[in-house]
Amino acid sequence: MAATIKIHDKVFTPFISKETIEQRVAALGKQIDEDYAGKNPLFIAILNGSFIFAADLFRHITIDAEISFIKLASYKGTSSTGNVVTAIGMEEQLHHRHIIILEDIVDTGKTLYSFLPEIELRQPASLKIATFLSKPSALKHPVHADYIGFEVPNKFVLGYGLDYDGHGRNLPELYELVED
Ligand code: 5GP
Repeated sequence: MAATIKIHDKVFTPFISKETIEQRVAALGKQIDEDYAGKNPLFIAILNGSFIFAADLFRHITIDAEISFIKLASYKGTSSTGNVVTAIGMEEQLHHRHIIILEDIVDTGKTLYSFLPEIELRQPASLKIATFLSKPSALKHPVHADYIGFEVPNKFVLGYGLDYDGHGRNLPELYELVED
């Protein structure tokens, strides 16, 4: 396994190996493949963090399926709505479709909690979440992920699409931050 790496002022240590990730993502893909047979699901991957997970997972889907990539932009709403998250690049019709959201990590759950109502408004046939990582001890909003690659402790992680200040997304394994 790769050695400790340094990005800017932070040191990261290997956490989950490339082989373990590959096996887990293959298993998740197989499970989704079975669950959605005949349903022509539409995967919606949230950029940037999920792009590696989405590409690897999608290659394990053998049934008829589609994938689309969106970016989320957050802006200040009114005092009653708080921060509003809106999707950029969502062109597909979601009405009556079976939707699977692909995320890199559910941390506090804030992003998905703010964004899911936008999907629900479009009345999909079903809506599920597949996330590469979940940090249950950091969760602050009622977000339920249906498919989880790995549950991780409440530590900053890097690699396999997840970055630190834009760096590290290309690392094939997962690293965790070494606290000072
Ligand atoms: P949430 O809204 O669930 O708190 O977090 C959403 C986003 O924060 C994730 O999609 C991810 O981009 C970023 N994030 C949360 N935890 C981590 C982490 O440990 N490492 C990295 N690189 N990004 C994280």
